[in-house]
Amino acid sequence: MNNIFAKHEALQKAYKNLITLSPRDPFHVVIERPLSATVGIIEGRETLLFGTNNYLGLSQSQKAAQAAIETAQTMGVGTTGSRIANGTFGLHQTLEKKLAAFFRRKHCMIFSTGYQANLGTISALVNKDDVLLLDADSHASIYDGAKLSGAQVIRFRHNDPADLEKRLARLKNHTGAKLIIAEGIYSMTGNIAPLKEFVDIKKRHGAYLMADEAHSFGVLGEHGRGVAELQNCEDDIDFIVGTFSKSLGTVGGYCISDNDGINLMRLASRPYMFTASLPPEIIAATLAALEDLEAHPELRVKLQKNAAQLHAGLQDIGLNTGSHISPVIAVTLDNIAQALTFWNALLESGLYVNLSLPPATPDERPLLRCSVMAAHSPQEIDKAISIFKSVYNMFK
Ligand code: PMP
Repeated sequence: MNNIFAKHEALQKAYKNLITLSPRDPFHVVIERPLSATVGIIEGRETLLFGTNNYLGLSQSQKAAQAAIETAQTMGVGTTGSRIANGTFGLHQTLEKKLAAFFRRKHCMIFSTGYQANLGTISALVNKDDVLLLDADSHASIYDGAKLSGAQVIRFRHNDPADLEKRLARLKNHTGAKLIIAEGIYSMTGNIAPLKEFVDIKKRHGAYLMADEAHSFGVLGEHGRGVAELQNCEDDIDFIVGTFSKSLGTVGGYCISDNDGINLMRLASRPYMFTASLPPEIIAATLAALEDLEAHPELRVKLQKNAAQLHAGLQDIGLNTGSHISPVIAVTLDNIAQALTFWNALLESGLYVNLSLPPATPDERPLLRCSVMAAHSPQEIDKAISIFKSVYNMFK
């Protein structure tokens, strides 16, 4: 019998090499227990959390937890099937209506995860006769959605409108649909997309534009509607995709649009049709978190302030963080061995950040990805900076 796992040999070797360089496995960090949004127990120690996507701290919202408990007690804990086959709960529709109203759009379709929102939206919107123009640094869920769709994929240089325009110009005679996809905030680097420039380009070339605002929903824009709101180009984004798993602190995803075609998408999107729908307690918690997100714009102001504090502190130390300020701040290091030593030392000093290694990083260099929360206190941010400083000094 041929070894079914033989295909993973190269991965196994790379993984083994990595583990020999590290006292702990960076891919299996266990947060034994969160104590709050900003502190968790890791390896038995209280550790500062700067490696979550919990931008507004709402995963710990007592209001959301209470809503989940009450709903689970009255409606049960699961739906046990897909909405197409097994029925929609009233709560699914309530959340879809609330989200459509939040974005001031006609339609919202929710999915069981943000990953599935990209898979389900992209694969339903385009097929083999169409062309997808993807930012080269797109999230895996966008690439996987592209694969599932069968559409031709053209990658344009990250955040580069001129490169996008050049590639679209070559498609002058293409008869199928053209769909451009960009993210709002990029998850690894915190880079922000020039959506407004992409809007101008899509208009000139008769293309559609989809924005994945997974990391910018609730985070950017006066009302938290993301980069499109910040750049004042919301009405020209054809499809907005996002997730509940970051600023709302729960799980699930959505696609928002004014296009009535969304109604039929429910019968054409396999990642929507062939999986169990979100359980009622998650929807109740998401609705409660959405209320918080809307009622507390000051959380976004605090988040920006916190991001600026961390960014300035890391730059003062001399770390390579890039110039832009966003809640995702990536420290770029030179090589994997250095990154592993740095990351382990941070964790041993009580600071948890994400270790991102090539090929998952944009330019083949390892990153220490830090994410800031509105819930961080100035003292916690100062502490994180001082831990970075003492570890960095060890390298000098
Ligand atoms: N899109 C982007 C840009 C992401 O970063 C992620 C998750 N990191 C997703 C989609 C998928 O979201 P979820 O984890 O909620 O499934």
